[in-house]
Order: sequence, then structure tokens, then C-alpha cells
Amino acid sequence: MKPTLPPLKRCLPPLLLILACLAMAGCGTTNGGSGGAAPPGAGDGTAVKSGSTTQAAPGGQAAPGTQAGPAGQAAPGGQGPASVEAAPRFRGSIVTGRDAVRKRVRYSWRRGCPVGPVELRLLRADYWGFDKRVHQGELIVHRDHARRILVVLGKLFKARYPIQRLKLVDAYRADDDRSMAANNTSGFNCRRVSGSSSWSEHAFGRAIDLNPLRNPYVTRGGRVSPPAGRPYANRARRAAGMIHANDVVVRAFAAAGWRWGGYWSGSRDYQHFSSTGR
Ligand SMILES: [Zn+2]
Repeated sequence: MKPTLPPLKRCLPPLLLILACLAMAGCGTTNGGSGGAAPPGAGDGTAVKSGSTTQAAPGGQAAPGTQAGPAGQAAPGGQGPASVEAAPRFRGSIVTGRDAVRKRVRYSWRRGCPVGPVELRLLRADYWGFDKRVHQGELIVHRDHARRILVVLGKLFKARYPIQRLKLVDAYRADDDRSMAANNTSGFNCRRVSGSSSWSEHAFGRAIDLNPLRNPYVTRGGRVSPPAGRPYANRARRAAGMIHANDVVVRAFAAAGWRWGGYWSGSRDYQHFSSTGR
């Protein structure tokens, strides 16, 4: 997982100019057109054909990302439509259907959990991968937060904040250590707080862990979880997917009323956002 490529900086100013022109003059015309906006099928699946769903489109104009780098790079390898044009439009939905959630929480939910599958919602949303391409992922949160989290995902997309994986924790048999080690972003998981008998906020569907390897949990005593995230316990670093105080990610969640574990005192959970602040 290489961080962003410095040589790009050289061509950024002209690119930004072009993008600014497109945004202002409306000369782009590609935004939302023709279904050609997203590069086709790399890896995790990109084709979006949501069924009976609610769409959310946060924010209007196509903005070149405020973060380092990827504004308008052509996809390496040359196939597919190059993305020098307007930014692809975010597609996200709340998947309806009685069993949409139930079928996807076979490992992460069981009887006795504090919320039931009917109280949870499956979100399906576009995100920018570390490969600088658009993918579609899934996330489960409590129904009370589904809409606003979809808006958050839309903002992260617009800012081109990269997410390495967005899979349900069931893909890792609800094993949080495995999910974290894979740098997977996830929400609902009916589990206890690590090293405690109380329910984690994830068990209520009101917490999300974002790029956990790049944003590890660091205890007061210096223990790092996941262990492979140790290089990123140094928060002065700047690498793709890292979250920093008051950045676009923290602000997007804050606007939804969710708070960041990086602001905790003592132990800090840099991957963790929750509606309760716990
Ligand atoms: Zn968490």
C-alpha cells in the first residue's frame, strides 16, 4: 500500500485549473451522464444496480478533492474512461427488504444482542479505494443513523478520502482483529468492548471504524491495535486514509453528530467514530 505519489504534484495546478473551469463554466457535461463515470470493475465490484433503495446525493458541484493528490488522475493501465472530466457522482443507498440485513449478520449478530436485525440498515455506497478507483461497499448501522451516515459517505467520496475496504464484518466471520488487520472499514458488530464485559457501541450499530490499520487504537500504555498498525500510531505521519484532527473526515462525521475517538484523552481510538462519543 503505497502512499500517494509525489510526482503528481507537478501537474496538479494545471489540472485544478481545468477542473475549476469545468465546474464554473459547466463545460464538463459528463457529470451524471451516460453511466461512464466510474471505471469498470476493478476487484471488489463496481457495478451499481441498486434495487428498491433510497438515493442520497449530498452536495452539488463536482469539486476537485481537497486532499492531496488524486484529482482527476487517469486510471493507470489505460483502459476504461479516463477521469480527467468531472468527478464521478456518488451513488449510495439504504437497501430495503426484510432480510437484507438478517442474511448479512450471520456471524455478527446472535440472540441476546442489544439491537435486532430489524433495527439495523444495510448501506451500499461508492467509495474511493486506495487504488484511486471507485468501488462499491457495504456498511451496517442502526436505522436511526442510516441516512446521516449515507450523507457522511457521500462527503468522504466527494473529498476523495480513500477507504481500502468497505465490507461487512461478516466477511471476516465477525472477527474484529481480522477485519482490522485487513484495514477494513466496518460498522455494526455485536461484540463487547475489548477486554471488558460491556457492549461495544458497534453492537448498537452506532459506531464505525475507518481504515483501522492506518488509524489504530492506541492505549495509554502504548499498545497498538491492530498490531500491524504500529507505524501509524505516529500521528504526525501523513499517509492515505489517515484521519487527523478537524480534517474532512472528522468534520463530515461531526456534522452528523458523530464524534471521533482520536479526541479521547488517554487511550485513543483513531479509527473510531460514534454517535455517543464513546
Ligand atoms: Zn470502533
